[in-house]
Amino acid sequence: MNLFQVFSSSGELAGNNKRLNYCPKCGADFPGKELGKFERQSCDKCGFVHYLNPSPGITIIMRSPDGKVLIGKRSENARYGNKWCLPGGYIEYEESFIETAHREVLEETGLKIRIEGIVNVVSNHLDDLHHTIVIVLIGDVLGGHQEPRDDLTELKWIDSNLHFGTIYAFEADKKIIDCYFAGNMKILPIDDRIEKI
Ligand SMILES: [Zn+2]
Repeated sequence: MNLFQVFSSSGELAGNNKRLNYCPKCGADFPGKELGKFERQSCDKCGFVHYLNPSPGITIIMRSPDGKVLIGKRSENARYGNKWCLPGGYIEYEESFIETAHREVLEETGLKIRIEGIVNVVSNHLDDLHHTIVIVLIGDVLGGHQEPRDDLTELKWIDSNLHFGTIYAFEADKKIIDCYFAGNMKILPIDDRIEKI
């Protein structure tokens, strides 16, 4: 699909790499047949259906006062290692996407942030094992001590010139930063009452 918000490098997929050998609820064998589109494994014994859904995550454009953007280099052992990306990560079951943003940025960069708003939501179907829905936020640094942590080995504030020569792990990140430097990004503000949590 040729939309700014849909990124797919995977072609036609049916989640076959996510098939389970046993029912996670009762332990019975799961049928081993190839899955077609929208077809899911189900348990003959207990009726459990193994639904497949994209994983929700966030990324964030961190701005400096002079308009630069913070990106991180992924560790060698990470997926798409040694390439660059926006800070971000998966939303845990117990947290809101706002809490995820605060947690992930602190974990990966050591920085405390103020989130201004939502700039996009993207579908990112990377391969048969990895399909994410990413809420893209924008924010500023409030404090903390900047250092690369977690699965990032380096942090860099980039302007549009540096952005042009950067190799990104995810096409979506590149497009979003393109938009930021082109000055045509729309911001849906975060509700003040939520940001005060
Ligand atoms: Zn079962």
